[in-house]
Amino acid sequence: MEEELKDKLGAHRVKINEDMKLHTNMKVGGPADFYFEAENEKDLVEAVKKALDLKIHCTVIGNGANVLVSDEGIRGLVIVNKSEKINFLSDGLVEVESGVDNTSLIREAAKKGLSGMERLMKVPGTIGGAVYMNAGDTGKKEFFGDLVKSVKVIDKKGNIKTLLKDDCDFAYRSSRFQDSGEVILSVKIKLEQVDPKEIEKRTRDILVRKAHHPAGATVGSTFKNPENYHSGELIEKAGLKGKKIGGAKISEKHANFIINEGDATAADVKKLIDLMKKTVKEKFDVDLEEEVRYIGEW
Ligand SMILES: Cc1cc2nc3c(=O)[nH]c(=O)nc-3n(C[C@H](O)[C@H](O)[C@H](O)COP(=O)(O)OP(=O)(O)OC[C@H]3O[C@@H](n4cnc5c(N)ncnc54)[C@H](O)[C@@H]3O)c2cc1C
Repeated sequence: MEEELKDKLGAHRVKINEDMKLHTNMKVGGPADFYFEAENEKDLVEAVKKALDLKIHCTVIGNGANVLVSDEGIRGLVIVNKSEKINFLSDGLVEVESGVDNTSLIREAAKKGLSGMERLMKVPGTIGGAVYMNAGDTGKKEFFGDLVKSVKVIDKKGNIKTLLKDDCDFAYRSSRFQDSGEVILSVKIKLEQVDPKEIEKRTRDILVRKAHHPAGATVGSTFKNPENYHSGELIEKAGLKGKKIGGAKISEKHANFIINEGDATAADVKKLIDLMKKTVKEKFDVDLEEEVRYIGEW
């Protein structure tokens, strides 16, 4: 298996038992059996196809900003997506490879006076992650999916196809990709041509709100907000702010954030998540649903 992967993807590029703490924001979890960084769309397609040929499980991640990797690690091939091409077309249409970092796209679009991407200010991650999670600014109800025209994917049989926005089932922190097993290759979005001063204004507003978010090793919001509630408020009212299990702690600054204080395990984080869910259910009869995605052997 190792030799076949190395033959196809390059001996020096396939790593064995790679520590996934190095590739995720929460900095917990065990090793990936096989690890490969895709530098462009061609790499990504080849790696996915090779995993299909060899019948090994394949996990694609971007910046690892929203994932919790189990302590047992991830079986099969992990592809970290670093494809980075941005193609500005006419009329505000932009074709973006899925490994492009949100901040790079915001910066490049702003240079051209194109607005719409501000909703991903300070949302660490790639465009693939933004599509998969329908990431965005919950306060303003502005999500990445709103901008999408079409998404190019490779499906579980290795076919490449283009889906229109309506096929993508975008909803609050949700998309078809969370169930379909399709790998997102690139996306076409539509931005709006505005006065650059307007972009600055929109950006400033988001940055002020984001300044209240805690820093550190975290996945950001642990839970989605249930209808009519804020998860952070419920967790705080349940008296859990500052609660620690092992090296994982519920942030004093924002109770929907868990921080790895340095030596947390994935199990510590999971125990804290379970405690938050159980306590909020008991006290307020509200079910919290994870925004964080579990990957690996749970
Ligand atoms: C400090 C902080 C603040 C945050 N603030 C926000 C916020 O304001 N709004 C918000 O929405 N989110 C926020 N997040 C969460 C996170 O930044 C987003 O979910 C982001 O979109 C994740 O992108 P990523 O590339 O890191 O995805 P990853 O974490 O790498 O992956 C997330 C999921 O997407 C899948 N995936 C990734 N790329 C692909 C692909 N190409 N094809 C198929 N599947 C793929 C992965 O398998 C995984 O299941 C925050 C996180 C942090 C740490």
